[in-house]
Amino acid sequence: MTQPPTTSASLTCTACTHPVIIGGGPVGMVLALSLQARGVPVTVLEAQPQGAMYPDHRALALAAGTQQVLEQLGVWQRIQSAVTPIETIHISQQKGLGRTRLRAQDYGMPALGYVVSYGQLLQAIDAAVKEVTALAHATPLHIHYQTAVQDLTVNAANATIAFTDATGLHTQMTTPLAIVADGGRSLERVSGFVRETKLYGHDALVTHVQTQSAHANIAYERFTLHGPIALLPNGDRFSLVWTGEATYIDRIAALDEADFLAALHQAFGDRVGQFTACGPRLRFPLKLSKLSQTFPAHAVIIGNAAQTMHPVAGQGFNVGIRDAVALAQSLERTPVAAWGSATMLTTYRQSRAKDTERGLLFTDFLVNVFSNDLVAVGALRGLGLGLLEILPNTRQWLIRKMSYGR
Ligand SMILES: Cc1cc2nc3c(=O)[nH]c(=O)nc-3n(C[C@H](O)[C@H](O)[C@H](O)COP(=O)(O)OP(=O)(O)OC[C@H]3O[C@@H](n4cnc5c(N)ncnc54)[C@H](O)[C@@H]3O)c2cc1C
Repeated sequence: MTQPPTTSASLTCTACTHPVIIGGGPVGMVLALSLQARGVPVTVLEAQPQGAMYPDHRALALAAGTQQVLEQLGVWQRIQSAVTPIETIHISQQKGLGRTRLRAQDYGMPALGYVVSYGQLLQAIDAAVKEVTALAHATPLHIHYQTAVQDLTVNAANATIAFTDATGLHTQMTTPLAIVADGGRSLERVSGFVRETKLYGHDALVTHVQTQSAHANIAYERFTLHGPIALLPNGDRFSLVWTGEATYIDRIAALDEADFLAALHQAFGDRVGQFTACGPRLRFPLKLSKLSQTFPAHAVIIGNAAQTMHPVAGQGFNVGIRDAVALAQSLERTPVAAWGSATMLTTYRQSRAKDTERGLLFTDFLVNVFSNDLVAVGALRGLGLGLLEILPNTRQWLIRKMSYGR
């Protein structure tokens, strides 16, 4: 489908007649696999070498809907033995009444979600790609590693992507649809993109911890006055996401291991006994952010590039996967001549608007209500958790929201 390149000095121009994905992270790659499975040819441009992110231990909480998508794409079968099912979610608040427990068995589900490391997921996706592209007469799925996109311009006829490949060759490629899945890290300054950001002034400290008691497949969400703490069962230990004001995270990040574990025990309470060891501590600034575009056709933004959420409810990655699936369905339904047209993209964006907005509002609500020091808010919080414990419809809504985004 890609025309033979025409080269002039150090600049190569190619014209691509199919979609091009910028960014081969989990969302971009799930989209690539979904398109390939639907007979839509696709090219992926990824800045890093293949496998560079395999050592990334960041814990992703996969919702039931995401698990089903990965199963259809032949990815789930490759990580099944490495994922940790979440059978119970325990939600509580520090120094306050009210707690709730959501149990998979109460909803006839094998698990409420699954925890997998970012690197393991990418490795399984790469293996699935290798298998499908090796098949005779497979729909083309080309991935170019060490290929960093520098610019994206859009006109009435198509999009032009400027990138440099591993050999240092500069290329300009035209495509009817450029799909930005770069995680929001590099292309937001492109003219025509508009970013709205709410900085919380909070950071997340991420590590893994060993505890006195085994995790028993329980995920804990503990709301403290500084911010939420999440403990996700991951293999034989927990992955910890401890959030709070940047100055507070500065303080706990600087503690030696024994003092850090003691501070965690004090903030989290005694539900898993003592914390006995922890891994290297990484930190990330937290923000709620949305990237939109002013041009109607030939470019679209998905995944973390489109929306970055506070990790408090483990929603971000799952919303990104739903973007990928909806876009693949949209391209499959659209005649080739109309790929990337304003009509196609308007319908796609409308189909995703509610889910994205609700995801952003839901996480923002949790952060505001559960990180607030006011006595009245504390009482409301306790009431909310207490009500959640006894109202089956509300609990059902929460499970559906976290599993399928609806
Ligand atoms: C502390 C923390 C904890 C989190 N915990 C959870 C959780 O528990 N559950 C959950 O669902 N989500 C969680 N998230 C969010 C989750 O990490 C993201 O939703 C997910 O990584 C998004 O995937 P993506 O493919 O959109 O972007 P990314 O994973 O960021 O991938 C983007 C890819 O694009 C490539 N790229 C970037 N720029 C260019 C360029 N110019 N040219 C070519 N390639 C480029 C990058 O190399 C990368 O491979 C967490 C996030 C943080 C920060």
